[in-house]
Amino acid sequence: MTPVKNPPEALPVRIGHGFDLHRLESLPPDGEGKPFILAGVTFEHPVGPVGHSDGDAVFHAVTDALLGAIGEPDIGQLFPDTDPVNEGRDSSDFLREASRRIREAGFAIGNLDVTVVCERPKLNPMKSTMIENLARVLDCDTRQVNIKGKTHEQVDAIGEGRAVAVHVVVLLTSCKNSGPEMK
Ligand code: MG
Repeated sequence: MTPVKNPPEALPVRIGHGFDLHRLESLPPDGEGKPFILAGVTFEHPVGPVGHSDGDAVFHAVTDALLGAIGEPDIGQLFPDTDPVNEGRDSSDFLREASRRIREAGFAIGNLDVTVVCERPKLNPMKSTMIENLARVLDCDTRQVNIKGKTHEQVDAIGEGRAVAVHVVVLLTSCKNSGPEMK
């Protein structure tokens, strides 16, 4: 029997996975941490991410999930941390570019599921704002975006408050041959 080979362009959906981790340090002058920004929300916290851009690990992981779903280069290739243009840069720029690329490739957001792993700060009070920020940058409905907060049970670097990690999966749906474009 001849194996079925689906050409990529025939697939009605694409799945993408993204991951990011940032070391957390005290803010200057005691360390190199930046204000703790997650999904565009700045949290009041004594430590923050070390990074070339603004260090928003949620926007970074979502960017990589979108790019991965359409087989494009990752965030580090598109926006190198050796390029002064990206220093301190608002990470919504990266996400907006990834969003533009998936639409250019003929896809739209199906749904997005984000897991943030850190001991503190607690995300719950700001979760809806984080979701709204993601939906706004991605130009999709807030019901297509989900965020979960987890701790690392006080073990390892994340559990000891020295790092934050973010996992993302995204499902994209093809806009080709499907009538009006879905957002
Ligand atoms: Mg990052």
